[in-house]
Amino acid sequence: MAIASINPANGETIKTFESLKREEIEQRLQLAADTFRTYRRTTFESRTQWMHRAAEILEREKNELGKIMTLEMGKPIKAAIGEAEKCAWVCRYYADNAAIHLADQVVETNATRSSIRFQPLGPVLAVMPWNFPFWQVFRFAAPALMAGNVGLLKHASNVPQCALAIEDIFRRAGFPEGAFQTLLVSSDAVEAILKDQRVVAATLTGSEPAGRSVASIAGQHIKKTVLELGGSDPFIVMPSATLDTAVETAVKARTINNGQSCIAAKRFIIADSIYDEFATKFVERMRALRIGDPMEESTEIGPLATPQIVNDLAEQVQRALDSGARVLTGGHKLNRPGNFYEPTALDNLDPSTPVSCEEIFGPVAMLFRVGDIAEAIAIANSTSFGLGASAWTTDPAEQSEFIESLDAGSVFINGMVASDPRLPFGGIKNSGYGRELAEFGIREFVNIKTVWVA
Ligand code: NAP
Repeated sequence: MAIASINPANGETIKTFESLKREEIEQRLQLAADTFRTYRRTTFESRTQWMHRAAEILEREKNELGKIMTLEMGKPIKAAIGEAEKCAWVCRYYADNAAIHLADQVVETNATRSSIRFQPLGPVLAVMPWNFPFWQVFRFAAPALMAGNVGLLKHASNVPQCALAIEDIFRRAGFPEGAFQTLLVSSDAVEAILKDQRVVAATLTGSEPAGRSVASIAGQHIKKTVLELGGSDPFIVMPSATLDTAVETAVKARTINNGQSCIAAKRFIIADSIYDEFATKFVERMRALRIGDPMEESTEIGPLATPQIVNDLAEQVQRALDSGARVLTGGHKLNRPGNFYEPTALDNLDPSTPVSCEEIFGPVAMLFRVGDIAEAIAIANSTSFGLGASAWTTDPAEQSEFIESLDAGSVFINGMVASDPRLPFGGIKNSGYGRELAEFGIREFVNIKTVWVA
C-alpha cells in the first residue's frame, strides 16, 4: 500500500510520502539502540516531566491534531479532538503511576534480601492501525517510554501525517532524540525490522493476518509480542434492562468511529420479549444519524477510511443476505463522493453462517433474537474472537452469569465497552494476547528481574 494521505470524504490525494530507504531504516535502528543505552538510565522524574509536557501539547493542539486525524481517516472531528484529549489522559496516567507500577518489590524468602526489579527491554516495534490513529499509538508509547524502553512506530500507510505528528509531539515534549521514532515504511518492510537484533519486542494492533505474521516472525526470533486484534463484540439485552438507554447506547456502540472500532458492538443479541420494541427503536435511531462531512461538528457518521473497506462491507452484507438475512434499514453504499456506507441493521441471521460472527468493520449491525440467557451466551461466544462484551440486565443473578460465562477480555454490564487507562485492555482467542493499559500494560515490555542476595 502506498504511503499517502487521501481524504476519505472525497477521495482527494492530499500528500504522498516516500518509504524510507534501507540506509535510512538502518540509521534509525542504530539511533534507537544508541538512545536506549542512555535513556534507560534516565530517572522517572525526567520521564514524568517529559510525559506531562506531551500531555500539555496534546491538549493545547487538540483542534489541529484532530483535523489531521479526520483528514486522513474520516472520523468525525468532535471524536478526533476527543481522541487527542484521551491521549493526554493516558500520558498523565503513566507519568503519575509508572514509578509506582515499576517500584522494586521486596519478597520475603530465605535470602538476606530478595526482591523483584522491573527493567526496560530496549527498542520496541509498534505496528499500528489507522482507526484510532493517535490513541492506539499513545496507549503503547506512554507506558513503554515511562518504563525506559524506546519506541519505533510503523503506522498504517494511510495515516502518515498522524505518524509524523506523534513523533514530533514526543520530540517537542523533551524526550531525547531517538526515544520515539516514526518509520515511514510499508508492511513488507516489517519482517526485516523485526528480525533485526536491535529490536527486542513488538506490539501489533490490527487484523488477524497481520497479527499472525508479526507473531510468527517474532516467535522465530524469540521476541516478546503483544497482539490487539479484531473483535465481533456481543451486545446482549435482557428483559429487565432499561430499554431506551440500552438502545441509545447500542447505536453509539455500533457506529462509534463510523463503525470502525475493534470494540464496537457488532452483534446485538436481544431477549425475545423485548426484541420487537428494541429493533423498532434501534432502526429509528440508526436512520436518524447525521451522515456528512466529518469536518462538520454536527456530523455523526463520516466516510469509511478507504474504498476497500466499503467494498469489503458491501460484500459481507451481500453474503448475509444470500444466507437469508433481512435488511431492516440501510444496506447500500451511499451515492455521493467519498467512502460512505449507510447505517444498516440486519436481522433474521443464521448464527451458524460465517458472516454472522465475523468482524464487520463499518456501521452494520446484526440483530439476533434469543429465548433465554443460555442461548444469549451461546451465540455471544460462538465467534473466534474474544475482545469485549456488553450485557444489559438489572437482575444480579444474570449479571453474575454474564461476568462468569462470556468469553472476552472485558465484560461491561449496563454500559458500553470502552478503554480506560486505569483498566487493562486486551482480548482472548483470536482477538490476541497480552494487555495494554493499567499496570498490566506497562509490565508487558519489562524484564521482571529476580534479585536474590545471600
Ligand atoms: P491491518 O491491515 O492489520 O493494519 C494494521 C497495521 O499492520 C498497519 O500498520 C499495517 O500496515 C500493518 N500490516 C498489515 N499487514 C501486515 C503484515 N503482514 N505484516 C506486518 N504489518 C502488517 O489492520 P487494519 O485493517 O488497518 O485495522 C483494522 C483492524 O485492526 C481490525 O481488525 C480491528 O479490529 C483491529 N484493531 C484492534 C484493536 C484492538 O485493540 N484489539 C484496536 C484497533 C483496531 P499498512 O497500512 O502499511 O498495510
